[in-house]
Amino acid sequence: MVDLHTHSRASDGALSPAELLTLAARKGVKALALTDHDTIDGVQAAYEASLQLGLGFIPGVEIEIEFSPGEFHLLGLGIDPENDHLVHALNSLAKTRQRRNKNILLRFREAGIRLDMDEIEAAAGTSRIGRPHIADALVRQKIVRNRQEAFDKYLAKGKPFYLSKDCLELEDAIAIIREAGGVSVVAHPYSLFVSKSKLSELMDEWKVLGVDGVEGYHSAAKLGQCRILERMGRQRGFLITAGSDYHNEIKPECGIGHTAGGIEISDSFYTELLSRLPQLRPLEVLEQAQGLSGAQGLSGTERADN
Ligand code: AMP
Ligand code: ZN
Ligand code: FE
Ligand code: FE
Repeated sequence: MVDLHTHSRASDGALSPAELLTLAARKGVKALALTDHDTIDGVQAAYEASLQLGLGFIPGVEIEIEFSPGEFHLLGLGIDPENDHLVHALNSLAKTRQRRNKNILLRFREAGIRLDMDEIEAAAGTSRIGRPHIADALVRQKIVRNRQEAFDKYLAKGKPFYLSKDCLELEDAIAIIREAGGVSVVAHPYSLFVSKSKLSELMDEWKVLGVDGVEGYHSAAKLGQCRILERMGRQRGFLITAGSDYHNEIKPECGIGHTAGGIEISDSFYTELLSRLPQLRPLEVLEQAQGLSGAQGLSGTERADN
């Protein structure tokens, strides 16, 4: 079992990177990609934990792309977390995000609802504050009962306290990921909220623009939909990936190492990714090394430091 899409506390997951890797190992996941939203802050700690645990590790990121009507998320898998362009791009996204959060709070204040950024930051325990944390503050003030209600009434796209974000354009994100040595994969394409024929057109465009792959299997999708996605992707020569999009234990259907239909994610998805990311170690090598030396000095990646 492997998992090519997970989140840690560096973005909006519940677990620290080390806790996430420990959970993965305990559940029998052999290789894992950490793909936090717009940040690689958790990658180093996750990498170190993967060495301790003898897990394969794929440094990754999930970048939000300018798109309408739905949400467009692009995974960058196998990126070098020390790449200057990548680090710079993510830092400037973080600044934009902070500005947007402040403006959302200003709008609430104008409506007579006082939310305090310091309090939100303290409660979130992460520097990557977003709408989910603002939603939590509304819950704490008993303005809504839960996060979902906060989105449905106030914060979702089209609702009164939604502000758009300055996201990266697809072309730029592809270039940044490629330059950082990674492959770009369109995450959960159904969240684009487009018809199947529109999706076909989009896939053709992605191919021309240089997208490497499509996340065929995602835990929030229906298995039937995923099989169609896989077929559409393969017809165009895309790499196909699979992930849980694990955030926390609140959504049991998104268990780590599991995807659409509650099925375990096959090692073959890791092997397929390896064909595009030769720096990853084959699972057989990882397993062999584990057998030889307990869980010492193993990793899924050779860091390309020089
Ligand atoms: P942000 O990056 O601040 O725009 O927040 C994005 C996050 O908010 C997503 O990753 C989801 O976890 C959550 N989110 C976005 N839209 C909704 C929605 N309609 N209902 C519930 N959660 C949502
Ligand atoms: Zn998330
Ligand atoms: Fe996503
Ligand atoms: Fe995700």
